[in-house]
Amino acid sequence: MKDRRSELAANLAAVERRIADACAAAGRERSEVTLIVVTKTYPASDVWLLHELGVRQVAENRDQDAAPKAASCKDLSLIWHFVGQLQTNKVRSVASYADVVQSVDRIKLVSALSAAAVRAEREPVCLIQVALDAESGERGARGGVAPDGVEELAAAVAGSPGLRLGGLMTVAPLAGAFAGRPEAAFERLREISSRLRADHPAATMVSAGMSADLENAVAAGATHVRVGTAVLGVRPRLG
Ligand SMILES: *Cc1c(COP(=O)(O)O)cnc(C)c1O
Repeated sequence: MKDRRSELAANLAAVERRIADACAAAGRERSEVTLIVVTKTYPASDVWLLHELGVRQVAENRDQDAAPKAASCKDLSLIWHFVGQLQTNKVRSVASYADVVQSVDRIKLVSALSAAAVRAEREPVCLIQVALDAESGERGARGGVAPDGVEELAAAVAGSPGLRLGGLMTVAPLAGAFAGRPEAAFERLREISSRLRADHPAATMVSAGMSADLENAVAAGATHVRVGTAVLGVRPRLG
């Protein structure tokens, strides 16, 4: 466990350095960017170590893994983000531990989350997940609403009891016009975010960037980066 702690500490320091350098290069304050460590596929013991090392925000993408992990870490002061595709039959569980749901991408999910949040007496922050490669009216292969669907979903979240509209999330597309161009993708997200903030000034969160492209995200104004592999190591299985 001591070795794992040192490994995580070294990886965290390297990621911290990358974020600080990216902020400096972009003329931004380090405090403008929040690191979220994506702990999916890794055990709760790693979450404990990360907490000891100062991490306060973690993310998971599958409820069946996240629910028991959050339960075994309930004494730690952590902000839990849910970043995976979310089925409506899981919202009751997710609403019980998630402080932020980053993958809101359809109206049916908004109403289910709202009902679950009200029942659980919780008030999760919701981010609209944008699929930059999705055609109008369609959803992305890995979830997300097409850019022209953001406004309607944002209005639905803002008007739903128990939910707070936080902003936007995206994953750089692997296919389509933005494939291999994460910075262009994140610049597009920035435009969508400024349009959103015209109607919802408090919806300032822009969650973009992962291990491979966090510098591009910071350059394009991301407020939150979601980093898994670079902190925890290459995942043993797809997740
Ligand atoms: C797994 C995951 C990440 C982290 O990806 P890494 O490449 O391991 O940093 C970020 N966002 C989402 C939505 C993920 O599913």
